[in-house]
Amino acid sequence: MKVVKFGGSSLASGAQLEKVFQIVTADPARKAVVVSAPGKRFSDDTKVTDLLIRCAEHYLQKGVAPELAETVIERYAAIARELNLDFSIIERIRSDLFALLNSCKTNPEQYMDAVKASGEDNNAKLIAAYFRRQGVKAEYVSPKEAGLFVTDEPGSAQVLPESYGHLYRLRNREGLIIFPGFFGYTKEHEIVTFSRSGSDITGSILASGLKADLYENFTDVDAVYSVNPSIVRHPKEINELTYREMRELSYAGFSVFHDEALIPAFRAGIPVQIKNTNNPDAKGTRVVSSRDNTNGPVIGIASDTGFCSIYISKYLMNREIGFGRKALHILEEEGLTYEHVPSGIDDITIILRHNQMDSELEHRLVTRLKQELQADEVTVRHNLALIMVVGEAMRHNVGTTARASKALSEAGVNIEMINQGSSEVSMMFGVKEEQEKHAVRALYDEFFAGVLLS
Ligand code: ASP
Repeated sequence: MKVVKFGGSSLASGAQLEKVFQIVTADPARKAVVVSAPGKRFSDDTKVTDLLIRCAEHYLQKGVAPELAETVIERYAAIARELNLDFSIIERIRSDLFALLNSCKTNPEQYMDAVKASGEDNNAKLIAAYFRRQGVKAEYVSPKEAGLFVTDEPGSAQVLPESYGHLYRLRNREGLIIFPGFFGYTKEHEIVTFSRSGSDITGSILASGLKADLYENFTDVDAVYSVNPSIVRHPKEINELTYREMRELSYAGFSVFHDEALIPAFRAGIPVQIKNTNNPDAKGTRVVSSRDNTNGPVIGIASDTGFCSIYISKYLMNREIGFGRKALHILEEEGLTYEHVPSGIDDITIILRHNQMDSELEHRLVTRLKQELQADEVTVRHNLALIMVVGEAMRHNVGTTARASKALSEAGVNIEMINQGSSEVSMMFGVKEEQEKHAVRALYDEFFAGVLLS
C-alpha cells in the first residue's frame, strides 16, 4: 500500500488535477492521497497559502479584506470551471472561508494557523469531489476525525506519538482517502500548522501511521539533483540516497523535500520516492535506509547563505569547566538556535542563521558573551555561506577532504571554516557569500567531473 502526496504546483490548475487523477488511479496500491493547497501556475504567480496569510493579516489589522478573500476563492473557482465541477463546492468554500475569516481573533497565532490550513483543507474537499465525479470512490478525511494530534506550536507543530495508532484505523476505509496536508489538531481541538511546505510532513506521518510500503512524493522536478541546477547547468540526477544524505542536503538549501518530513518515514523504515507529476515516467529519486556506495564518495553538494559566525576566544578556555555550556545558555536565553560549533583550544565559533537577529539583539549578545564569559575577544562575522559536501561513502574513502580543499584553493576560494562531524556523512565549508557559487562549481567539477558549468 502506498501513500502519495502532491505538492502545490501539481494541484494549481484543472489540467494539473487531471494528471494527478491519472497518476493516482494508475496504481491500485495508491490508497491515501495527501494534498497541498493550490500553488503557483507560473513563476510569478502567488501560492494560495501566501494569499491566505496576507488575507489573515488584513483581517487581523483592519477587520476586513473581502477582495483578498475573493482572490483565494477564485483560485478554486478557476479549477472547478476547468474541470466542469458542480459549483456548489465553491459556494461551500466561500461560506466556510468567510465564516473563518470573521471568527474570533483573540489569539492571532491560532487564527492565522486556521486560515492558513484552510488552503489545504478546501483543496482536499475539492479534489475528493472531482475524483468522485470521475466515478472513483474517494472520501475527504479530516485530520481531526482521523486523530492527527499535534503540539500547540503555531507554525511549527510537532506530531504527537499517539496519532500513529489513530491513523492506522484508516486502513479499514474503503476507497481512496483524500487527506489535507500541512496541519493537525491540538488536544484542545485547535488547528495548528506544521512549518512551511509541511504537507510533506503530513504525508510522511500518514505513511508511517498506515504502515505503508512506500511514500511517494510528487513534485515538479524529475529528481533530486546532485547540486542546485541554478548554480550548475544540467547537474547529475540522484536516483538513490539514504535518509541521512537527504537530511544533510535538505538542511543546506535542497528544498525538494522538507527535512522534517524524513523522520516519520525513516523511523518506520518506509522508503520515500520522489517523482515528477509532469513526467511520471521519469525514474525519480528514492530515499532509503542504506545503499550500495558504488559511484564515488560524494552524492551531492548543497549550499545556503545567510549565516553568521560568533567567534569567542579566551586564554585557557580548554581548562574552564562549563565554558561551552555557559555560552550556549546565553544563546538559549536570547531565544537563538545555532547550527554548528567548531572549536579550538582557546576558542569556539558558533554559527547561526542570521535572520534570527536584529542589530540590537546582536549587540546585546556580544556584550553578554564578553561580560558573562569574561572572554578576551568576541567577533561577529556576517554574510557567510555554508557548503555541505555529502555522501555516506566518504567514510570508506581516504582523501575526500583533501580533494575538496584542493579544489577550493585552486579556484581561489578562501575557506573560512571547515567542519566534519564524526558521522562522516558530510563535510562543511564556510565561505564568504560572494564566493558561494564559485566554490560550489569548483567542488562539483572535482567530484562530478566533465560537467558543463553555467
Ligand atoms: N501550502 C503550504 C505552504 O505553502 C504547505 C505545503 O504546500 O506543503 O507552505
